[in-house]
Amino acid sequence: MTRSGPVDSLRLSIQSWRGRMIELKAPAELEAMRAAGLVVAAALAGVVEAVRAGVSTAELDEIAEQTIRDAGAVPSFKGYHGFPASICASVNQQIVHGIPSPTQVLADGDLISVDCGAILDGWHGDSAVTVSVGEPSPTDKALSEATRSAMLAGIEAVRADGRLTDISHAVETAVHESERSDQRRYGIIREYGGHGIGRAMHMEPFLPNYGKPGKGPRLRVGMAIAIEPMLTLGGEKTLELDDGWTVITVDGSRAAHWEHTVAVTEDGPWVLTAP
Ligand code: MG
Ligand code: MG
Repeated sequence: MTRSGPVDSLRLSIQSWRGRMIELKAPAELEAMRAAGLVVAAALAGVVEAVRAGVSTAELDEIAEQTIRDAGAVPSFKGYHGFPASICASVNQQIVHGIPSPTQVLADGDLISVDCGAILDGWHGDSAVTVSVGEPSPTDKALSEATRSAMLAGIEAVRADGRLTDISHAVETAVHESERSDQRRYGIIREYGGHGIGRAMHMEPFLPNYGKPGKGPRLRVGMAIAIEPMLTLGGEKTLELDDGWTVITVDGSRAAHWEHTVAVTEDGPWVLTAP
């Protein structure tokens, strides 16, 4: 018997879904992604520790970049389609993709989301957190908690042989649960969402943060997906600023963003960017 090695390994490494290729990682490759994920976790931990009134988002960016480079990794955001920094720092009504700046100085009561990515040995990690500067207002705290809960619900929905939009549905369902318990409405950003990740940061498939379950590609062991809900205290309409990056809410309401890179394993989800 001869084994058709190249064909087998091709079948092992990608799954085709409607002509789109979804990368499947071998166990050793997921271990490598975990190492990249830990670098991102360390960078975000350093940034969160430094968040306080009087600190600029450019200073936070320096901390993240230094942590990533000290670990022998490369900041994946820097130079990505020309993005000039190692983190996205999105303050208050900024939803995502805020550019760090020495003139953006944090003040008590601000709500900042920090998104960070790193490449280690060719593998990507991508994660985001939202933190308040000083004591959070009750609504900011609720917004951030609702967003984080939605992310965690999405992670819990990751199951081999499940379907992609099982995650989307779990995210949306969790948002509605938070709306009931918090007695308020949250806007779910629809123009942005999660994504496959591995040898590149943004890969197939796109993952909406809302919708019916049981659709999209089947989740298979070895897939890795960035799950990243973005919620607002108001509407869902977004606007990109003239800087070509910063995405804000049209109604000026505050936004939160949480993200983890998650692998599909036989034993369930493996959160690769968890500390
Ligand atoms: Mg991200
Ligand atoms: Mg992402």
